[in-house]
Amino acid sequence: MNLALLFDEDFVAEDRVVLRGRRLEHIRAVIRASTGDQLSVGRVNGRMGLGKVVKLTDSEAELVVALDKQPPAPLPLTLILAMPRPKMFRRIMQTSATLGIKDIWLINSYKVEKGFWQTPWLSDENLRENLTLGLEQAKDTVMPSVHIRKLFKPFVEDELPALLKDKQALVAHPGTACPCPTHLNRATALCIGPEGGFTPYEVGKLEEAGCKSVHLGPRILRVETAVPVLVSRLFDACI
Ligand code: SAM
Repeated sequence: MNLALLFDEDFVAEDRVVLRGRRLEHIRAVIRASTGDQLSVGRVNGRMGLGKVVKLTDSEAELVVALDKQPPAPLPLTLILAMPRPKMFRRIMQTSATLGIKDIWLINSYKVEKGFWQTPWLSDENLRENLTLGLEQAKDTVMPSVHIRKLFKPFVEDELPALLKDKQALVAHPGTACPCPTHLNRATALCIGPEGGFTPYEVGKLEEAGCKSVHLGPRILRVETAVPVLVSRLFDACI
């Protein structure tokens, strides 16, 4: 937690917050802050700054906050991700938030097991928690939006073309002819497949909607690795 993300319910006055639970534990056990210390804080979807610890007990930390800085620029990326295995899902959500991705679409694909959609990590509360961890890691405040689409064909045919408008659109697909571009630095939509990959039919549908297939070389990366590798190839912002 390189920044404590503050929510409306934390504010007891305009410039004062009370933190409990995970953030209190972190302040006490990891940062080992004392009264008078200043910590990085930021209001969700708002400005960042410093919070001065004015009270610290076993049950709460009270901070006086001054929020005067804008969060870092978002990545101009729409990430379209075949629903990952639950074991990987939390980590991928955290990493995506840390990298500055603000628009995430979780889609179905033939090789997404039906059970993946039952994971409790998809609940609003758990999504918020994991995205918060990612933002706190990066020192960012802007909460990503997550859209869930459990049917591949209606999504690709009815929604994707509009989503791709005015964007460079790519589908990462191993073994394809074209290498992934670098230093793109413009509005981009990127589709990443499931553990077993997109089927040829799905790649065809994504291409029909306007996506260009690109590869990352002969090594097959896990989705959790492919996300940061693709982002760092496409955008200079994360260097
Ligand atoms: N056997 C699958 C295949 O060949 O498509 C491997 C899927 S890989 C574990 C999961 C996803 O990560 C892929 O669908 C793709 O979007 C992305 N990916 C991983 N390695 C890649 C590579 N070398 N080139 C392009 N995309 C890759």
